[in-house]
Amino acid sequence: MEAEIITIGNELLIGQTIDTNSAWLGNELGLIGITLIRKTSIADKESAIIDAIKEAHSRVKLVIITGGLGPTKDDITKKALCRYYDCDYRIDESVIKHLEKIFSSRSRELLESNLSQSNLPSISETLLNEVGTAPGMWFHKNDHCLISLPGVPTEVYHITKERVIPKLLQTFKLPIVLHRTLVTLQKAESLLSAELEEFENELPPSISLSYLPSYNMVKLRLTQKVDKKEAVSIDLYYKKLVTTIYDDVFCLGDKDPASHLAQYFIKNTIRFTSAESCTGGLIAQRLMQEPGISSVYPGSVVVYSDETKIHELGIPASIIETQGAVSESCARAMAESVREKFNADISIASTGIAGPSGGSLRKPIGLVFIAISKKNTTVCESFKMFGTRTQIIQRATNASFWMLKKLLAIPID
Ligand code: ATP
Ligand code: MG
Repeated sequence: MEAEIITIGNELLIGQTIDTNSAWLGNELGLIGITLIRKTSIADKESAIIDAIKEAHSRVKLVIITGGLGPTKDDITKKALCRYYDCDYRIDESVIKHLEKIFSSRSRELLESNLSQSNLPSISETLLNEVGTAPGMWFHKNDHCLISLPGVPTEVYHITKERVIPKLLQTFKLPIVLHRTLVTLQKAESLLSAELEEFENELPPSISLSYLPSYNMVKLRLTQKVDKKEAVSIDLYYKKLVTTIYDDVFCLGDKDPASHLAQYFIKNTIRFTSAESCTGGLIAQRLMQEPGISSVYPGSVVVYSDETKIHELGIPASIIETQGAVSESCARAMAESVREKFNADISIASTGIAGPSGGSLRKPIGLVFIAISKKNTTVCESFKMFGTRTQIIQRATNASFWMLKKLLAIPID
């Protein structure tokens, strides 16, 4: 089954907001066997909305639109939908109840404009939105389906997971789509694809391999569309995929590497900490997203300037004077000092040049030292990262995760 997405909002066209909804929806639809063939972004303009829906419905039976459901004047999607379906409004009592609950829990007065969120096109079915005020809507007419969702990404995620996906699975005969994902770190997509050439050539037509890269991480996903469950076949190829690139695999499944590491620390009661210079706290920030991390994470420090490295961590001034803050000796000293300071089992230190200025011939932009320290052992590696400041910071963070995995021999599953 094919679908199109229309994202509505002036802010999307002037570049104020980046359309992340359609990227996310495209992935979610793919997971249940619906192929997204086109996405369109349009202004908050009635005629533009009607024209875009008409055109999309002339090509596909399923159209999903997001945005323009708010109570403000510029949000006119519902008006356009009433015009498109030639229908009037109805009042949805369940939405009124939900609005009263939300507003009283936030101690806010429920205004007339807020109440208008319960006026919905009469031929729509309500897709209740527990995390916001604008409900989603489902329209089904002449064998064509239209789903209208709010613009706020968290609301799109919630309604899609809770209402839209189950209803799509119930309404349409969709193929069974099986996925098997793994995460690699530190190896470029092109190198992985060279190593996997033979594997890919041997894949049966029903199974495809996707590369999903971000920073120095590449997720590999096998997808199989089947009429009935033939998991055996995809699992066989998944095993072969893992074996072929075993040394580059960080973890199995569609997981954040930070979450994989944090779960390992929690499970094995390994207290960790970090002393971060060029990553500015990102290593700690990503690891502490894991619920339950407090049992193994006492805290960490961001020591950005030379002075804080010396005063907060006691890094010898002589190291900074002779070798510089961006050096192996400094990274090692930072890791060892912070481990003692927080009485941790393992510590991570980062120091480098994230750019865009500050590089030199000897120490170019993107040079990053990462040290990991545990009892009786401190290791340090230097990396030459490329890209923008943000990319270098993200890559350095992922590189530290990779070093942790190697040093602690963390299992991939
Ligand atoms: P609200 O009830 O908040 O008014 P709405 O359905 O009217 O919701 P919009 O006003 O269009 O939605 O957008 C709400 C927020 O969501 C805005 O901050 C907007 O920038 C953001 N947003 C809208 N569309 C997208 C999109 N396609 N991708 C990412 N963010 C989006
Ligand atoms: Mg809008």
